[in-house]
Amino acid sequence: MADVKKIAVLGGDGIGPEVVGEALKVLKKTEELFGYQFETEQGLFGGIAIDEKGTPLPQETLELCQGADAVLLGAVGGPKWDNNSKELRPETGLLGIRKALGLFSNIRPANVFDCLKEASTLKPEVLEGTDLIVVRELTGGIYFGEKFRREGENGQEAVDTCVYNVTEVERIVRQAFDIAMTRGKRLASVDKANVLETSRLWREVVIRIAEEYPEVELEHVLVDNCAMQLLRRPSSFDVIVTENMFGDILSDEAAMLTGSIGMLSSASLGEGSFGLYEPVHGSAPDIAGQGISNPIATILSVALMFRLTFGYHDAAQAIEDAVKEVLDAGHRTGDIATDKSKAIGTTMMGDLIVAAMKK
Ligand code: NAD
Repeated sequence: MADVKKIAVLGGDGIGPEVVGEALKVLKKTEELFGYQFETEQGLFGGIAIDEKGTPLPQETLELCQGADAVLLGAVGGPKWDNNSKELRPETGLLGIRKALGLFSNIRPANVFDCLKEASTLKPEVLEGTDLIVVRELTGGIYFGEKFRREGENGQEAVDTCVYNVTEVERIVRQAFDIAMTRGKRLASVDKANVLETSRLWREVVIRIAEEYPEVELEHVLVDNCAMQLLRRPSSFDVIVTENMFGDILSDEAAMLTGSIGMLSSASLGEGSFGLYEPVHGSAPDIAGQGISNPIATILSVALMFRLTFGYHDAAQAIEDAVKEVLDAGHRTGDIATDKSKAIGTTMMGDLIVAAMKK
């Protein structure tokens, strides 16, 4: 029997549905070219779900995702819901879905397209060949530790605790090694082991797990040094793995190497091969409904889904090559165009990428 992959599709709000629409065309073209089969089903999520179902994450949407092999998400949020109470905010749906689906890592690739090197604030020669992935632990560390205020000798004090257990570190580190094995086989583990006890535990675990991956070249980088090296020698990194707060900061820094938010894909992974894939950008209410948003981040999120969840590396490569070909030919949406008068729209960009896909 044919291996049909089930994908839950959550368009969300603002530009979400329009960029996801272009990604669905790419899925269809993949079926035609490679013979893979996908079954997609749409669900309500975010602001639109609040309007129609009274909650950002309706039970049927959650069940749809739980029954799928992967989730493709557009973006959620917008001014309409900004003043809602916490449980009626689209962002609460995001936290809820990550928790309910057991997603414990966030994956953010940052690769620089040669023809867009000028869009970055770094010198083109520094960026040359940059193609890295940041693997960030998503559910532990200081963001989730106990927080409280107390009266100290010098007045009020605030305390945030940072906790990691061995299991939490093992699963993310193993995932990062696995990803490194599918790429350049180099892993940089980022910590602050000269100061933090959680980092010393992190490093111990990394060293132990590295024995299972003798082919992967491992380096330990202190987080402050990593922040510098990302600007000095970004192309020397392949996969970076780090804890929650360091990853939050470093993944944003790495993202900016590429120069445009409309180009950045991401994944959140749990146990096994299940993953939720989405562009890094938000719902861009300022340009929603105008047909001018850049669909490339979402289209590249599909390529990431093919690599990380389905192992369809040939189809992923076809998408990435098609994006490159279209950009090399000079086509640009407004966000990445130097001459805005020549910018093309969302649908045209999607159509050009689909047309450029080859087996
Ligand atoms: P944003 O990413 O939506 O937009 C920032 C700027 O980048 C805007 O000027 C926008 O027009 C532009 N932009 C973003 N994506 C683009 C694309 N694909 N093509 C062209 N231009 C693009 O961030 P924001 O304005 O801070 O947030 C808007 C809403 O999105 C808020 O409600 C926020 O909470 C939400 N948000 C959602 C997510 C998510 O769903 N994961 C992530 C970030 C923000």
